[in-house]
Amino acid sequence: MSGHQSWFDLNLGISALKYIGEIKNGNLTAEEFISKTIERIQKVDSKLHAYLSINEQAVEQAKSIDKKIKAKENVGACMGMPISIKDNICVKGTKTTCASKMLEDFIAPYDATVVSKLKAEDTIIIGKTNLDEFAMGFTTEFSAYGPSKNPWNTEYVPGGSSGGSAAAVSALECIASLGSDTGGSVRNPASFCSVVGLKPTYGLISRYGLISYSNSIEQIGPITRTVEDTAFLLNIIAGMDPHDNTTIDNQNENYLNDIDSGVEGKKIGIIKEMTHEGVDKQVSAATNKAISNFEGLGATFEEISLDMVAYSVAAYYIITATEAGSNLARYDNLRYGYDFDSEGYEFNSYLSKARKNFGPEVTRRMILGGFVPSAGHAGKYFLKAMKVKSKLTAQVNEALKKVDMLIAPTVPILPFRFGEKIDDPVALFLVDINTVTANLTEKPAISIQFEISGGLPIGIQLLGKSMQDKMLLQAAYALQNTVKLPEVPI
Ligand code: GLN
Repeated sequence: MSGHQSWFDLNLGISALKYIGEIKNGNLTAEEFISKTIERIQKVDSKLHAYLSINEQAVEQAKSIDKKIKAKENVGACMGMPISIKDNICVKGTKTTCASKMLEDFIAPYDATVVSKLKAEDTIIIGKTNLDEFAMGFTTEFSAYGPSKNPWNTEYVPGGSSGGSAAAVSALECIASLGSDTGGSVRNPASFCSVVGLKPTYGLISRYGLISYSNSIEQIGPITRTVEDTAFLLNIIAGMDPHDNTTIDNQNENYLNDIDSGVEGKKIGIIKEMTHEGVDKQVSAATNKAISNFEGLGATFEEISLDMVAYSVAAYYIITATEAGSNLARYDNLRYGYDFDSEGYEFNSYLSKARKNFGPEVTRRMILGGFVPSAGHAGKYFLKAMKVKSKLTAQVNEALKKVDMLIAPTVPILPFRFGEKIDDPVALFLVDINTVTANLTEKPAISIQFEISGGLPIGIQLLGKSMQDKMLLQAAYALQNTVKLPEVPI
């Protein structure tokens, strides 16, 4: 038993692929691993608050997967691996709150496509993770249920909005997680928590069952401890879905095959507007180191200027607030919401009372989202934002004719302390400067953990051509293997 105990102490942080290997070799059972994962959650989640709810049936589910393995029946590729899911993605029969009071009691009536695909491969959905309310924010401080903490230093934010997912993966409270990325919400927390986060090409992963924030640019994306785990999960969750007509046919691409093909001969563009002004010196130094590591592997670099990046954050917030304004109109406490005594209210005052249950950030976005597309203002704001989007796309496409991919730090600054930016929405918006470009241009982008500076993680971002997610993973894999990072301290 004590031998086993130390096996878990050493290996709770194993990758998805290693987990599967151990199960196949008979060194481990799903039940053992799930039980240890739950113990781990019980031990650390009181400090981190990565989870909003835990699957009470997880051990039972693991037992039945073990039974299938023992009986040599068909078992799905994930073999009982514990994965967490951001709480804005529907898991049938479980609470899906979007970290909002508005959906406090909402039980999802169906599985998101990504969730049914994972379940079909015998994944165990271990729990639902915390986020900024309706995925609007950068720190998880806007969760109605309290923030998640950064496992590297609990006085610091984990990034967001998928902060619970990144913290859970980083702190070994699950093997992998799914988040959503509208403007950086998978990549930013991945960078702050020292894990991998992918925002795939728009349309590569079905959004069916993802509660919409800004559906024209957002994607679900994996958060994992290794690049190969992201490739493995992408193999399961990517592809066409009749429930989401924005999905594209990826010809059943196998993202794991040839993941080690390297970057020899690849040309990489350094995005000027994301690597100089406003970048912390430690982040700059890490970026330079990543560039020289890549050079050591045979890649070449040139600096590329994308001057529309200067307008990208403004355009992003106008477009997303507009879509959020219409997406969140359904939370009127009639179709969705909680209940209160409606006696004595006429319709409008009933609605405004109901909407008081939204937190400050969602309220801000809804007000903005009502204003910017309204008659008389649309030309000044929304249409201009759409022009920025198309010009930025043209610039990025042009750049990607010259180079194979682009590089920049995922976040220009180091993780920061709780409360530091919460009262300054514009400062918080600006932290998205390096990530929104991929969303606005529908391109794939990945954040790879690269350095721990003064105890705080720094991630490097690669942005690629549409549907070239595989090339991005190959480069990310090569970069990952140039560094050896310390273990998470918690
Ligand atoms: N911080 C950005 C926002 O608040 C990104 C959020 C996201 O990607 N979901 O909109």
